[in-house]
Amino acid sequence: MLITFQEAAQKLKAANKILITAHIQPDGDAIGSTLAAMQMLRSMGKTVQAFIDDTVRRNLHALPHFEEIRRPVEGEKFDADLLLVLDTSPDRIGNVPKLTAAPILNIDHHVTNTGEGYDLYVEKKAAATCELVFKLARELGAEITPEIATCIYTGIATDTGFFQFSNTRAETLAIASELINCGVSPHFISEQMEKKTLAEVCGLCDALNSLKIYFDGKVAGMTLNYETVKKFDSTEGFIDEIRVIDTVDVAFLLTEKAPNVCRVSMRSKGVDVSKIAAKLGGGGHIRAAGCTLYKNLADAEKILVSAIENALITY
Ligand code: AMP
Ligand code: MN
Ligand code: MN
Repeated sequence: MLITFQEAAQKLKAANKILITAHIQPDGDAIGSTLAAMQMLRSMGKTVQAFIDDTVRRNLHALPHFEEIRRPVEGEKFDADLLLVLDTSPDRIGNVPKLTAAPILNIDHHVTNTGEGYDLYVEKKAAATCELVFKLARELGAEITPEIATCIYTGIATDTGFFQFSNTRAETLAIASELINCGVSPHFISEQMEKKTLAEVCGLCDALNSLKIYFDGKVAGMTLNYETVKKFDSTEGFIDEIRVIDTVDVAFLLTEKAPNVCRVSMRSKGVDVSKIAAKLGGGGHIRAAGCTLYKNLADAEKILVSAIENALITY
């Protein structure tokens, strides 16, 4: 069920024991919003624990209080009166729902999130879930400490490609400006986020070597097989290297995470890739979306390219 911002704030105020989570394959917005909300709600006297049911790429370990995030253990229970789900619908949080039967409060900015079966405050124009956490902190009168501000800024910066993507609004920059006044150091965050291991840079070479161009240059795609992908931690940013090709509308990266498990990332300059992703069982935003295909790499590529072709025809 869709709820208002005031109702979401009220539910947070009323809860005492809160479990916070965000999506698997977590990005800067997932971890940033989780850590910011955790600190904010603790400062209001609540008992709060954050769980993420996945590994987290190394760059994000630099965020304040990162070490307090836990991964659920088989059979574990957590006593909570609210399950706060951030930056995703509740179907992408792994085994976290097994920890508690507490009611869900979902706060998100994805167009594909419909809120059927749980309370959802969704703001589709928000550049990041972290923008919504910022507004909640203001609404609830919580102090935005330098540590909270750092987490929020990281989520906004990473979801906007450091204030470059079309989701960057005047309000996004106004919030970023306020966060700098709260003590954020933008260069520290960008230096942490851009770091890559040597293995990751070599992986980027492998990805670029796999580049294929389809449909008169409108689509560019890269594929990375399991043998290559298991050598490094993250493919963050790889897709941006081909998104920039002048003729390209849709760019994709297909990574074989495990045998017959292929993760799809898509970026677009016009076509609504969230619709393509939703048709393939995933979701996201108009210009950035993804899904997972349970196929081998070659079959996954065929299915994806054909879905993109259909979207190009109807665009
Ligand atoms: P990424 O390519 O991983 O940066 O993801 C781009 C956008 O698509 C992000 O907003 C993700 O949250 C969303 N997304 C990626 N994979 C999925 C999925 N399997 N289901 C729903 N949304 C997804
Ligand atoms: Mn995210
Ligand atoms: Mn986000």
